[in-house]
Amino acid sequence: MPHHTPLIGTIVAGLVVAFIMGSIAHRLKLSPLVGYLVAGILVGPFTPGFVADAGLANELAEIGVILLMFGVGLHFSLKDLLSVKNIAVPGALVQIAAATLMGVGLGQLMGWPLMGGLVFGLALSVASTVVLLRALQGADLVDTRRGRIAVGWLIVEDLVMVLALVLLPALAAVMDNADGSGASALLAPLLGTLLKVVGFVVVMLVVGRRVIPWALHWVVHTGSRELFRLAVLAIALGVAFGAAYVFDVSFALGAFFAGMILGETPLSRRATEETLPLRDAFAVLFFVSVGMLFNPAIVVEQPLPLLATVLIIVIGKSIAAWGIVRAFGHPNVTALTIAASLAQIGEFSFILASLGSGLGVLPADARDLILAGAMVSIFLNPILFSMIVRDHSKDEDGPDAEVDDADGPRIGHVILVGYGRVGKLIATHLVAKGVQFVVIESSGDRVEQAQEDGLSVVRGTALDDRHLLAAGICEARRMLIAVPEGYEAGAIHEHARHLKPDLHVIARAHSDAEVAHLERLGVPDVVMGERELAGRMLNLCGVS
Ligand code: AMP
Repeated sequence: MPHHTPLIGTIVAGLVVAFIMGSIAHRLKLSPLVGYLVAGILVGPFTPGFVADAGLANELAEIGVILLMFGVGLHFSLKDLLSVKNIAVPGALVQIAAATLMGVGLGQLMGWPLMGGLVFGLALSVASTVVLLRALQGADLVDTRRGRIAVGWLIVEDLVMVLALVLLPALAAVMDNADGSGASALLAPLLGTLLKVVGFVVVMLVVGRRVIPWALHWVVHTGSRELFRLAVLAIALGVAFGAAYVFDVSFALGAFFAGMILGETPLSRRATEETLPLRDAFAVLFFVSVGMLFNPAIVVEQPLPLLATVLIIVIGKSIAAWGIVRAFGHPNVTALTIAASLAQIGEFSFILASLGSGLGVLPADARDLILAGAMVSIFLNPILFSMIVRDHSKDEDGPDAEVDDADGPRIGHVILVGYGRVGKLIATHLVAKGVQFVVIESSGDRVEQAQEDGLSVVRGTALDDRHLLAAGICEARRMLIAVPEGYEAGAIHEHARHLKPDLHVIARAHSDAEVAHLERLGVPDVVMGERELAGRMLNLCGVS
């Protein structure tokens, strides 16, 4: 039976091969991103066998960008965004200028025309939204001050690129004509774009801020989970698409604003949960689509220019970012995190490269270097990032420090994992009974809340031995795992028992399968929420 289903083929090949390669990378103790990139090379046009549709893969990747930015917006308030403007705006502008200059320099060495070098440099100056956000989320840094600075910085870069994309055709025309009408020919599109960006922000803050929460509240009261999920997706994708088509701003910026407005409502947590699975699947397709663009032949044909391009992206840009963050008086760990999170290029660079080639201002080898530079820098980024975050997680800088080591020596205390709906209730009782305990919590908001409640807290996931040690696991007597995922609780139990074999662990579960899994692992006490609820309800109705 003949089938021509390029969209299905691209999604299926992308996800299946990414899954296989991601699993292999995981076994080799590499970042799964590396596996996804390799999967992209395998299904790309430069290797034999099945070739997925690169155009479709790029569009699918955009959905990943939209959902990621929407998720980040959910955690951000306008206040957060404005609080980092003093560093994010000059930082991004200086870094873009530095990277562009380095790109122009390399262009001169390669004998490209000035305009070609300029577009090349600009393409190297902008970080990839997906890679940056994945790195911050992986290290639980989105809600920290350095995470906010990095996201604010990314948004400024995004805005500059929106302007660059509009100005590039006008600039190319001016360079062609060179007849003195240059300034006015550039001014019109520049002003037009700025007006559209301002128009978008005003519409979102005035209309969106009223309509979006109202619509979502209405849907929540219908009681339909399916409609709620649909509403969240419709808002994220609809606003992003509308923003791009009506106001010419990027999908990412549109989605960020939609998220930010939803983040002001009490429904933001549910909205985050509803978009997670789709977001992760499409973010994987982003990496596959990058891998597909990579032509391995360039490594042999142009090794030195490729090396120079990668050095500009990974070292040159990082030094510029680090320098400016330090110059603004921020601690070293903040400067290093920001520098590392921006040390790659991605989706905007591709758009700029294809526009530049289309206009005939970007030489073909410059475009190939941008694509290869993106691939190599994305490949290197998780390694660089984890080195820096690991080496500096215990450094200076108060509110940013990953491990807010709980105070004083403790013996025989309790460790409480998770300060959510269940953990908070437990904590209240432990305080009332005078039991000594330390909380381990991964979400920034919850950590702040626990600190405000006067508790000793370790920020980070209990799946990481460093955080268990910071909570004094070797001296602890009991551990209460109050996280909603039974399988995650099992993994936490494994880590904990490895460090302290005789620790008494009590875990939370929500299904028979989770209970069985935890019991198989040897967790001595498992409490299943649903059973307790049923028991209590029967009790109340006099049947027990
Ligand atoms: P809830 O479902 O409302 O009881 O919330 C569970 C809490 O556990 C949330 O605040 C999560 O951030 C937190 N949590 C989930 N997994 C981990 C983990 N591996 N380490 C630390 N905290 C976690």
